[in-house]
Amino acid sequence: MVKILLLGLSGDTGCQVATVGLHEVLLGILKANELVYAPTLMDTKEIPDKIDVAIIEGGVRTEHEVETTKKIRERSSVLIALGSCACFGGVPGLANLKEGDELLDMIYSEQKGTVASDMPTVDKLLPKQQAIGDYVKVDYRIPGCPPETGDIAGILTTLLSGGTPELSKTDVCELCPRERIGEYSKKLKRIYEEVADPERCLLEQGFLCMGPATMGGCGAPCPKAGMPCDGCRGPTAGNSDQGLTMLDALTSLTKEANENFSLSEYAGTIYRYTYPTSQLAKVLNGGRKK
Ligand code: SF4
Ligand code: SF4
Repeated sequence: MVKILLLGLSGDTGCQVATVGLHEVLLGILKANELVYAPTLMDTKEIPDKIDVAIIEGGVRTEHEVETTKKIRERSSVLIALGSCACFGGVPGLANLKEGDELLDMIYSEQKGTVASDMPTVDKLLPKQQAIGDYVKVDYRIPGCPPETGDIAGILTTLLSGGTPELSKTDVCELCPRERIGEYSKKLKRIYEEVADPERCLLEQGFLCMGPATMGGCGAPCPKAGMPCDGCRGPTAGNSDQGLTMLDALTSLTKEANENFSLSEYAGTIYRYTYPTSQLAKVLNGGRKK
């Protein structure tokens, strides 16, 4: 019986709950294998000495989480990063655009309704949010916010039956039904600024849709529903920096729209899920922390 661990760092549980969404597939997995540690789903206290497959969600933000991640890696044969926080640092990684004290001041003293003297003491906080792969070897990544249950099921069942799992090699545009006619807007717009044509590609209309820079396989539900893809599945296969791929795609927009673009304004859009593992972070912060 394969021994499985399921753990969330940084208090994260959403991607583990997505795992519960596997329904019958999960029951089949649990029938043939053993869940040995999963604090969100069962009462377990100690990380076991021997784990076959460890699945970790959440980014790394405290020294305790670094120790836990390293301990699990040492005791596991296979380690899977579940969700975009574990894979790339995720949305909380945008906090890395601020320095530690500056960030705490912004949240706890400068917001309306906060009192500077109520600043909490955060024990052993790391200077930056990091992805799991910045500290230990990751064997497989299942990105998404949350990950698609089909991806979780596919990777787990393939792995548990002795195969080599693979994720989509396409981008989100591949399954997007919106029409591309090769004509581009002169203006870069936010989705609330103008009513989008429901049939045409959002990027061509000037809305910053991350489809060309984002791993496919989700079926493009966001552009289908009228919202630009915000890139939750991280970079496409073979590209390590989602923001740079998007900058490349943006060069197809008109000169006027590109003049509208500023990295400081759009860094949170093109790196919403991947800033800690980006080249930009490497340049600004002097590299990833080991
Ligand atoms: S850029 Fe967005 S709207 Fe355009 S085809 Fe790609 S996913 Fe669809
Ligand atoms: S369309 Fe984009 S934001 Fe929406 S689920 Fe797919 S990857 Fe995530």
